[in-house]
Amino acid sequence: MAGNRGKTAGELGKAVGEVGKTFRPLRSNIFPWGRTGFPRGKTAGEAGKVGGRPGPASRPAGKMAGRRGKMAGEVGKVDGISGPALRPEGKTVRQRGRTAGLSGRIDGRRSAEPEQGSPACRQRSLVKEIEGNAVPRRGVKYAGRSTAMKTRAAVLHQTGLASPYAASRPLAVEELDLDGPGQDEVLVRIRAAGLCHSDLSVINGDRPRPVPMALGHEAAGEVLECGPGVRDLAPGDRVVMVFVPSCGGCVPCLEGRPALCEPAAAANASGTLLCGERRLHLGGRDVHHHLGVSAFSEHAVVSRRSLIPFDPSLSYEEAALFGCAVLTGVGAVVNTARVPAGATVAVVGLGGVGLNALLGGLLVGAREVVAVDLNEDKLKLAKRLGATATFNAGDADALPRLREHTRGGVDYAFEMAGSVHAMDFAYRATRRGGMTVTAGLSHPEHEWAVQHVSLVAEERTVKGSYIGSAVPLRDIPRYMALYRQGRLPVDRLMSDRIPLDEVNAGFDRLAAGGVIRQILTL
Ligand SMILES: [Zn+2]
Ligand SMILES: [Zn+2]
Repeated sequence: MAGNRGKTAGELGKAVGEVGKTFRPLRSNIFPWGRTGFPRGKTAGEAGKVGGRPGPASRPAGKMAGRRGKMAGEVGKVDGISGPALRPEGKTVRQRGRTAGLSGRIDGRRSAEPEQGSPACRQRSLVKEIEGNAVPRRGVKYAGRSTAMKTRAAVLHQTGLASPYAASRPLAVEELDLDGPGQDEVLVRIRAAGLCHSDLSVINGDRPRPVPMALGHEAAGEVLECGPGVRDLAPGDRVVMVFVPSCGGCVPCLEGRPALCEPAAAANASGTLLCGERRLHLGGRDVHHHLGVSAFSEHAVVSRRSLIPFDPSLSYEEAALFGCAVLTGVGAVVNTARVPAGATVAVVGLGGVGLNALLGGLLVGAREVVAVDLNEDKLKLAKRLGATATFNAGDADALPRLREHTRGGVDYAFEMAGSVHAMDFAYRATRRGGMTVTAGLSHPEHEWAVQHVSLVAEERTVKGSYIGSAVPLRDIPRYMALYRQGRLPVDRLMSDRIPLDEVNAGFDRLAAGGVIRQILTL
């Protein structure tokens, strides 16, 4: 880290000079338009220019130091916490008192739900799976709000519809019934949700999921109500959604690998919350949750284990990115591959996750960060973000030129496109003894063939990376701190802000490859 810091300090004026032009300091008192984000219709970069404010390199040293000190304390305390449901100790006493009061009120209610993870809950989950999709809703009593509320949400009724989606409209914005939060659940007012390729993969059928399903998994919002058992959040708290909740009690969770939580994987595959229930309904029938979140909606009820609180110094739009794109892309570099300073890196596929991997490579001090894509505009963006070289995978000689440029291939290659072709490119772009990491989600029937002997004779490593091998409660505060310092300028990946009713057209733009991160503002 010392070397990396040195680099940052020494080169900040130049390397981040361009970033500095467009990066916005995040203190709300210097937002000309208030704390909740950028002017509508402006990209992050444009907003920075409009603001005309200095980049992080020219921030007053005292202010910077103070913030660093604060974050160091926060992160240190977060690190000391083992359970994902625990709240960082940095929260104020005032909030604690408020929480205690609230939980006292909630504790007075009797829960009609079985304990999370209990045999009864698991049994009911199993019954629901056997019953299949969209079963008639049974008379399940809820422990939270006594009356359900309405929420407008984007619902997928059929996968594999032809594009353009603006015409076929696979997502219908409908008014759903939303139950109140049950045991260990939270009602959240969604404020911002990113359109991610994983949503598109459900829409086009590459990622088979049960329907009807309310989509959206990358989001941030405000806590409105806590269900029984939730004592470490309170109404008004800001939270980021994490699309893999962690039960805290299964073997992967206990091994410190919550990204592989087994009950969460089962719940996500069957379209339920962590406890096996569905809180969304349409005309009396259940609607499935997408990855325990379903964020293309004004409101959502989610497991407490799907939420990470964050500091109000970040807007909801900024924070939303950290739930998927940042966690997955940066995490692949720092957690899965553990790329050391001075290494060489190639990123194949420059969507939101791939560009975050590129930022991650720059962050850890890789001496070479090579970007590969089919889209020239994305390659230009990668160059502006700091890529040391770019190659268009559509060029017949892209691979030999990359290997020549990096003298036999890179130490670490990242497949971030979700295609077998990209995986093959990444493997061949990796040098002898190097590591190929993939975070792309291909269709389940697609298989990748590898020359067996090359694994052995060249001592290669191939690793999968899911949600950036993240420990979200540890990683999200860390990445947010780096963002505040200007060392992880993820706001430069924001393309546009769109209303819920334009969600189908937004996925057309995402499929066409011309945008990085569009944010639904709700
Ligand atoms: Zn995503
Ligand atoms: Zn678990």
